[in-house]
Amino acid sequence: MKNYLMSEAIGDIAGSAYEGRSHRTKDYNAIKLFSSRARYTDDTVLTFACAEAFLKGLDMATNLWKCGNELPNAGYGSAFKLWLSSHDPQPYGSFGNGSAMRCSSAGWLAQSEEECEEMATATALPTHNHREGVKGAVATALTIFHLKLGANKQEVEESILRKFYPEWHGLSYEQIQPSFTFNSTCPGTVGPAIICFLESTDYVDCIKKAIALGGDADTLAAIAGPMAYAYYKEMPDSLVYEALKKLPQWMVEVNSAFDKEMNTLFKR
Ligand SMILES: [Mg+2]
Repeated sequence: MKNYLMSEAIGDIAGSAYEGRSHRTKDYNAIKLFSSRARYTDDTVLTFACAEAFLKGLDMATNLWKCGNELPNAGYGSAFKLWLSSHDPQPYGSFGNGSAMRCSSAGWLAQSEEECEEMATATALPTHNHREGVKGAVATALTIFHLKLGANKQEVEESILRKFYPEWHGLSYEQIQPSFTFNSTCPGTVGPAIICFLESTDYVDCIKKAIALGGDADTLAAIAGPMAYAYYKEMPDSLVYEALKKLPQWMVEVNSAFDKEMNTLFKR
């Protein structure tokens, strides 16, 4: 496998065209991945910032702050923007889905469940030090971690969805999709993203299902995308290629360095 981080970026870019009240859609068949409006957003900037911090041993908060300030128009939430503008940025107790959207590198790199929880927590704490903020990152990263190592869907349903988000456990995509509305919290995002993955048939189907919930499309797809890639182990090359063309050079470099690190860590 390669292009691990791109599994988040593709979801974010595809979903970005359906972000915002007037662009949301529930029409699965009408969804075009990579329409002309599609671009990377905050989800991808911060995912790559976390990954870079792990790869280079940088301070997590400092690198999130630096990368965010270098790309100030990526669509951050208002509280995160204030954090970026501070010269002494402190965690602000967020339980927004920002912690879940940026943590995938923890799930990929971790070599044990304990390490995965620790690393996911490290990506959340600079801003999302609310119990639910940390939980959203840990649940998302653990899902990727277990799938990467060969867990099946039923195991994810039991060990993650039932344990972390019992309120979403047992619900089908068909049950939640019609009435699903915008929700930018961790508890309102991670469970539904897992359901999109559980009911998907491949990577693209998972991304489209996440977008067609008609909610926080880019973030739902950015969270569900890496889960699908960890399980199916493949994504269309054309999407990877198109997404790479839309990213700044430093992200392209972090993607390559991340692949190298993964190959070193998991070479059998
Ligand atoms: Mg976004």
